[in-house]
Amino acid sequence: MTGTPTAMVLGIAQDGGVPHAGCFCNTCTSFHAQSSQLFPTSLFVTTEDELHIIDVSRQLDAQSRSFGFNPRDITDIWITHGHLGHIDGLGLFGKEVMGLRGVRLHASTSMMSLIRSTPRLQNLLEMGVFIESIFESNIEISTPGGLTFLPLPVPHRDELSDTHAFVIRGPRRSLLHLPDHDEWELTLKNHGHSSIIDWLSFLKVDVALLDGTFWNEEELPSQALVPHPTIEESLRRLGPKKTNYPDIRFIHINHSNPILVDEELRQKLSGWALAEQGEAFIL
Ligand SMILES: [Zn+2]
Ligand SMILES: [Zn+2]
Ligand SMILES: [Zn+2]
Repeated sequence: MTGTPTAMVLGIAQDGGVPHAGCFCNTCTSFHAQSSQLFPTSLFVTTEDELHIIDVSRQLDAQSRSFGFNPRDITDIWITHGHLGHIDGLGLFGKEVMGLRGVRLHASTSMMSLIRSTPRLQNLLEMGVFIESIFESNIEISTPGGLTFLPLPVPHRDELSDTHAFVIRGPRRSLLHLPDHDEWELTLKNHGHSSIIDWLSFLKVDVALLDGTFWNEEELPSQALVPHPTIEESLRRLGPKKTNYPDIRFIHINHSNPILVDEELRQKLSGWALAEQGEAFIL
């Protein structure tokens, strides 16, 4: 852990990662051929005494070895929502693997009730692996290490749990982590803003990690069943980057998104960028 609060991107892929199980598309095949892998989206934030992780994927071991931290040092876990890649690493904290005790598990009431109604996860609370910490939407929480976490509710398929983004503030800078939501129109309306830049400036964030699951609406036959704002739409709403704008990085990229392999598309990002695994931001 470092003395300067720092956030690091542990993964930039959608829940299934890249390569994606059961997929033999050109992207998955070429990532496999090059022995490269994109991990499901996850972020960690270190301070002198704390190691927070936002969403925990089954790739926690590979992420920790790649990016130089010990998952046994994790003090706090923050959960955005109950979809697979955001929580499927929780079991690694139990006795079958690390056998940790007393890790604070921060989740909404709805998410915590999903955990409590899943016997495998409920057991981790009962064994004291996790200490339950329920947050409320729009109520900022301060940590002993001098960070604050602000959970922001966002619309996203809620068949399992509700969904939150987080604004994490350190002594120097603030970051928005928004891996999944259904559509900009409703997210912005729910928060009382009409443009992405207005909302980010209201939130006073310096860096925003935004849902970039799909490039456009023509990637999957059943894409309407898994709504996400496309990067094309986000770029239309954002316009080109200006000097006083926050830095924006797209995360939660699906294997079908051509930006993963098409250099020319990256030129169309108008000053914005894809996040990179291992990319760090001082907070
Ligand atoms: Zn997801
Ligand atoms: Zn694929
Ligand atoms: Zn999701």
